[in-house]
Amino acid sequence: MTQTLSIALLTTRPHNGSNKSLIAAARKRGHHIQPFNTLSGVINCDKNSFISQFSKPFDAILPRIGGPLAGFGSAYIRAFETAGVYCVNSAAGILTAHDKFLSGQILSAAGMDIPKTVTLARADFIDDAIKAVGGLPIIVKLLSGTQGNSVIKLDTIAAAQSRLQEIIYARTPFLVQEFIAESSGTDIRAFVVDGHIAGAMERTGPKGEFRSNLHQGGTARPVSLSAKESDMAIKAAHILGLGMAGVDILRTSGGPKLLEVNASPGLVGIESATQIDIAGQIIDAIESRLLPNLKAAQ
Ligand code: ADP
Ligand code: MG
Repeated sequence: MTQTLSIALLTTRPHNGSNKSLIAAARKRGHHIQPFNTLSGVINCDKNSFISQFSKPFDAILPRIGGPLAGFGSAYIRAFETAGVYCVNSAAGILTAHDKFLSGQILSAAGMDIPKTVTLARADFIDDAIKAVGGLPIIVKLLSGTQGNSVIKLDTIAAAQSRLQEIIYARTPFLVQEFIAESSGTDIRAFVVDGHIAGAMERTGPKGEFRSNLHQGGTARPVSLSAKESDMAIKAAHILGLGMAGVDILRTSGGPKLLEVNASPGLVGIESATQIDIAGQIIDAIESRLLPNLKAAQ
């Protein structure tokens, strides 16, 4: 590699494992990578005035933006997009992936198989919602939750009524979903980098836990994806405009069901489970996007 790229890593947590891995991979390849705090500075809406705190230009933006910051973070990304800077994940993609219902609607409209999913805004429709997803038990998710923290299973009508009423009265956006019993406690995480599968793992939750997230005590092992699963993951990332995505899939007897797409998927769990250098592939993908252009411009 003879050319050096200048990469801005947009994050509030430059020292977490995923970011450390990305920083190390970029430096190993001789690139300049600098973390920038997603929350700092002022973003000007005017297309001609770029973000003041970025005094020098960057070749690429690598957004690592957690759920609650998706709104402000994507405004940053859009400013870079407007300025013509390559962004690994698009502003629209980050915003969409942050909303599990909206991304479900978009992916389902594109022909992808998702679990039956509904949303509602008034408590007097709770029974209709439960019926629409095929009855109890149901899964309820806050739309912007991550790491399994905002996903619950409700088994009885009394529990469903009272939890859903609480959520509705608090005006917290949420969805109700069919519980896929046959894959309870296990799912597939496919890590997509620029249109290919960089690595995949099967995650299994602890005994009695239906959530397989590693943050909920799940364990992971490397897994080979079927052609259908690979296509599903690659297509989902592409449709949402994400060059880097963690796609969660449930395996069922009727084929794979797409659960959600994460725009800022963790690297540590999948790198250690699969022994695959995912961070390296992310930096390599930025190189292959940008270095030919830089060479051509010289
Ligand atoms: P999060 O963003 O919190 O990871 P997910 O939608 O990926 O939210 O759900 C977390 C985990 O809960 C999944 O990895 C899966 O193991 C389990 N899960 C989620 N939805 C369902 C469902 N409809 N049926 C069965 N298990 C589910
Ligand atoms: Mg998930």
